[in-house]
Amino acid sequence: MRKITADYIFPISSPPVKQGVVLINNDGTIKSVVERDQFELSELEVHDGFITPGFVNAHCHLELSYLKNKISEKTGLVDFITKIIELRNEFDEETIQLAIEESEKEMIANGIVAVGDISNTINSFSQKSKSNILYHTFIELMGFHPDVAEVAFNNGLDIYESIPGSNKSVTPHGPYSVSEQLFHKINIHAKKNNYPLSIHIQESVDENKLFQSKEGDLIEFYKKLNIDLDFFESTQRSSLLSVIPYLEKEFKILLVHNTFTTPTEIKWIEENYENVWWCFCPKANLYIEETLPEFTSFMQNNCKITVGTDSLASNNSLSILDELKVISQTDPKIPLNTLLTWATKNGAEFLRFENTLGTLEKGKSPGLNLIKDVDNQGIKMLSESYIETLL
Ligand SMILES: [Zn+2]
Repeated sequence: MRKITADYIFPISSPPVKQGVVLINNDGTIKSVVERDQFELSELEVHDGFITPGFVNAHCHLELSYLKNKISEKTGLVDFITKIIELRNEFDEETIQLAIEESEKEMIANGIVAVGDISNTINSFSQKSKSNILYHTFIELMGFHPDVAEVAFNNGLDIYESIPGSNKSVTPHGPYSVSEQLFHKINIHAKKNNYPLSIHIQESVDENKLFQSKEGDLIEFYKKLNIDLDFFESTQRSSLLSVIPYLEKEFKILLVHNTFTTPTEIKWIEENYENVWWCFCPKANLYIEETLPEFTSFMQNNCKITVGTDSLASNNSLSILDELKVISQTDPKIPLNTLLTWATKNGAEFLRFENTLGTLEKGKSPGLNLIKDVDNQGIKMLSESYIETLL
């Protein structure tokens, strides 16, 4: 049995233990977290720093890893997507696969044990099938014109059926890229198969403008793509409130980004939906729009919060710790145990991996991260903090 100790243990299922000891069975499962004074120091593995369960990256696009450093920062969402469309056929298969493999290694080194991973293609499937990390694959569908709903859905369905196991969903990309008709098809399939959904929400002001007044940069964007928007009428409401009624109220839904979600909307969602989860990807928000969500508004409404890296197209690292640092620097009052709960337990619960991951509880094998170079007195991370994986 391994007996591992550090300055603080964060079991997440219970409060942090100062100089606690994590007991690990020979099969790698957690036995318990106990106080240090019942052991001789010589029988312990002693570390400086904080010990946490492995991290869950609730939102990533592994397949876009080849776009690292290829797209300029702070251009806004519409220019960002335009650039992705321009670049997506510029790279060969080998480059794409190599980038996927390297990115997975980076996530493992950064203490990530599970990922909610978006796939528009099958490019990441070969790497994901090796199960170095636990994945839930969201096969993401797009098609804003109602005429393409049938084809888009059937393509998604073919991919869905090609993946073994149950860690998979067919999911809508976002309000501005999925028609009501396509939402309905996904809704029926999700109801039948009882899987979680993940939707990009309010990542830009223009997304709201499109729905509220049929104005903004997305109109120009669709014009350039020769997609006729005559079918589309403004709803006079935000994008979130326009599309959420297309989905069953009891669905488990992850709303990703929420950069421009208002406190009133958060409150309304929390009052009307029991199973909505929220995902922050702060580094991607800074990369694309140079804006961050109002973290405290979500906390005040007791939202179930998770953390994601988004893709390397809009990030320079796939590190949950890096994301937590941005949140902590923006809002230093958020306790470390709260941030770590978002990064571990909540992500594991949303992705339905909570039986094995997310907390240091008996029988689980959640991975073990050591956060080094920390502020022990203030129980905080520092900008220089980094991860060493212990399990
Ligand atoms: Zn994304």
